[in-house]
Amino acid sequence: AKVLVTGANGFIAAWVVRTLLESGYTVRGTVRSASKGEHLKALFASFQERFEVVTVDDITKDGAFDEAVKDIDLVEHTASPFHFNAKEPDELIVPAVRGTVGILESVKRYGTSVKRVVITSSTAAITVPSSEPVSYNEFTWNDPAVQKTKELGAAAGPAAIYQASKTLAEKAAWDFVEENKASIGWDLVTLNPPYVYGPPINEVTSLKELNTSMDNFYKAVVDGSQDAAKLASNSASWIDVRDIAKGHVLAGEKGEAGGQRIIVSAGEYYWQDIVDVANSIDPAPLPNLVRGNPGATKGKQFLIRHDASKLDRVLGLKPRSLEDTVRDSLIMFAGFQGKN
Ligand code: NDP
Repeated sequence: AKVLVTGANGFIAAWVVRTLLESGYTVRGTVRSASKGEHLKALFASFQERFEVVTVDDITKDGAFDEAVKDIDLVEHTASPFHFNAKEPDELIVPAVRGTVGILESVKRYGTSVKRVVITSSTAAITVPSSEPVSYNEFTWNDPAVQKTKELGAAAGPAAIYQASKTLAEKAAWDFVEENKASIGWDLVTLNPPYVYGPPINEVTSLKELNTSMDNFYKAVVDGSQDAAKLASNSASWIDVRDIAKGHVLAGEKGEAGGQRIIVSAGEYYWQDIVDVANSIDPAPLPNLVRGNPGATKGKQFLIRHDASKLDRVLGLKPRSLEDTVRDSLIMFAGFQGKN
């Protein structure tokens, strides 16, 4: 079967491409300019008969994906901006929403062999801030972020803007399927991962080019620029990049996944937990890691949890341990020693 992966040069997408190729699929990846495909071509040279890169320079243009979806059986749409530097909402919301609706329109018109579309959404489209302990599942939508962004515009801040972009894009996808259900022969799966960590295989030539989640990880665990007080108070959920990649492959294969939102999380953490795991790895991949206040968060309750029971139930995926993710991330960082 032939799979289209959008934004193939991204942190998550490069692992999606690799996992698909290793599972025997033929893959067409889209990138914004030909030069962004060079690293991928070299990385997947041993699969060259089953891997091609095409350029889609502006995913917000009408018909941008018309050519890319031809002869495709499965679409994995990952391309969407993920950063916390947005100056105004449209910077993120337009590519997130237009990119998503645009690819669905192209699939409707020209994706005659497409059976399923998998979209990389996020727990950002689910997780509403809370002052009471809460466990979120797939029934919740982060409408407050959308509301806040509508009311305040740029003043909503980059985090709310990002969350609004993911919420609006995912909603637009489900609405599209509902409105077109009589005329489309494919179904939709959205994957909702929390923070994704682990070793990048996409092109990263300096630590300044790390994607947003791995940049956060580096700052908290290695360079210490994350506020120490926050190590024991900020919690979130995480998944390994290799597991979210596997999730994308399984989401295309499991019949039961069709029509579902699926939270793809391995569990919750405080940064201090990650720092403690990092310092326990023997031999240490990197010297002088952040230490914080060791053990301070052991057994501490989490304010916000995610119910990831669909991971096993629907996808049959058992995520790897935090220790694996942390060790392999540190080994990757160690490879940059002396380069920056
Ligand atoms: P990366 O920044 O590594 O990759 C993002 C990809 O999207 C790149 O291919 C990038 O292309 C493309 N992209 C970004 N902005 C645009 C745009 N305006 N027009 C066209 N393409 C664009 O991020 P990740 O791999 O982390 O993210 C991939 C997906 O996963 C996103 O949808 C993100 O929201 C989601 N996600 C990520 C999480 C994480 O922790 N990493 C957590 C939850 C969800 P280019 O390189 O040319 O900019």
